[in-house]
Amino acid sequence: MKNAWKNIDDKKLALAFSDGYINFLNIGKTERTCVDFVKGLAEEQGFKDIDAVPALKAGDKVYKINRGKNIILARIGSGDIISGTNIIAAHIDSPRLDLKQNPLYEDSSLALFKTHYYGGLKKYQWTAIPLSLIGVVIDADGNTINVNIGEDEGDPVLTITDLLPHLASDQMSKKMTEAFTGEDLNVLVGSMPHDDEEKTVKDYILDILKDKYNITEEDFISAELEIVPAFKACSVGLDSSMVGAYGQDDRVCAYTAMKAIFDCVDTTRTAVCYLADKEEIGSIGNTGMKSRFFENFIAEIIEKVKGNYNDMYLRRALTASMCLSADVGVALDPNYKSVSEEKNSAYLGGGLTMCKYTGSRGKYSTSDANAEFVGKVRKIFNDAGIAWQTGELGKVDQGGGGTVAQYIANLDVDTIDVGVAILSTHAPFEIASKADVYTAYLGYKAFYQA
Ligand code: MN
Ligand code: MN
Repeated sequence: MKNAWKNIDDKKLALAFSDGYINFLNIGKTERTCVDFVKGLAEEQGFKDIDAVPALKAGDKVYKINRGKNIILARIGSGDIISGTNIIAAHIDSPRLDLKQNPLYEDSSLALFKTHYYGGLKKYQWTAIPLSLIGVVIDADGNTINVNIGEDEGDPVLTITDLLPHLASDQMSKKMTEAFTGEDLNVLVGSMPHDDEEKTVKDYILDILKDKYNITEEDFISAELEIVPAFKACSVGLDSSMVGAYGQDDRVCAYTAMKAIFDCVDTTRTAVCYLADKEEIGSIGNTGMKSRFFENFIAEIIEKVKGNYNDMYLRRALTASMCLSADVGVALDPNYKSVSEEKNSAYLGGGLTMCKYTGSRGKYSTSDANAEFVGKVRKIFNDAGIAWQTGELGKVDQGGGGTVAQYIANLDVDTIDVGVAILSTHAPFEIASKADVYTAYLGYKAFYQA
């Protein structure tokens, strides 16, 4: 197998790059906190809100935020935009537990939150670990209140209890899909009785929320509150060669694509970095990749570059564009080799992973990049000395899945999945190689400059 470390001249640079990535993971635990983080860095880099810019010329840098949960960045190239753009699309939502709209209840003198899981997760992995609560509440007057409990030093954390082994023989003999149900994922949030004997443990929790955030029970109705792992991202391995963290699917590609658009200079083609929400639940809704938001943004760029707009400009620009769907791949796991086919699997530390297709049951529901475009991307990487490997989503008929690739391809854009292969995907603690993280950054930069 290839080893990306061998392509990296200065290992210290690659290791240092991951320090910034780890910081991003610790702040960007939800799509909203990712958007805030990216916006802050983009503004430092000279990107401006496109709504505040009347006209655009080569070298200009703009961004647009979609409902606080999805951000798109662009750097205007020197060539005619009708000749196409170079797009990298990653997603910033990750599997988690969302609070239900009426979450708080009391049972057996304990206060708990009801949740509804978001994305494909193995429910047992979310019990007996420290959890944080992050999100927004819109109060009765329409004010936005940011909630963040469990992330700051000294904050309490939340958790979901699990059964002791001594009493778990019934549970342990069940199938894993049945041993933990969605309605069992109730978060423990309190146990102290109210000073007022007439009131309950739940009332005391409501008082605390009122004191800290000035929110009432009805405010949960208009809230998006996410339960995520409370632990921090960190280095993994005696050699510190890997990153362990929640949410690396797909913030690893989001961070590296963002850094690449910051650092690519003098591009001929307009560079676009799309950080999507809702990938984990099918890319639906107005902040997901299937939304018109993407086309609307490109249309707005065209209008501001050209000084006028007609729909054929947009159609031609999309047809001539190319896209890397930057999402995590599956690295072969030595503990679970049987689900992968070794000759076509990606490996941790093997460099950027190119997946010609994803899908399942006979390539169903995949865009399956055409050979010519795969060849083009391969040449871009080879010319730039980027370590790359091919990958697939497990062996044939083992399972499968999809990415945003097919939705961009549907817009008549040449698209291929190119990302970082990781271990323990969708677990609360996912593993990536620091060599692959750095290689992704270099590879995405080379793509923007192609
Ligand atoms: Mn993903
Ligand atoms: Mn995923």
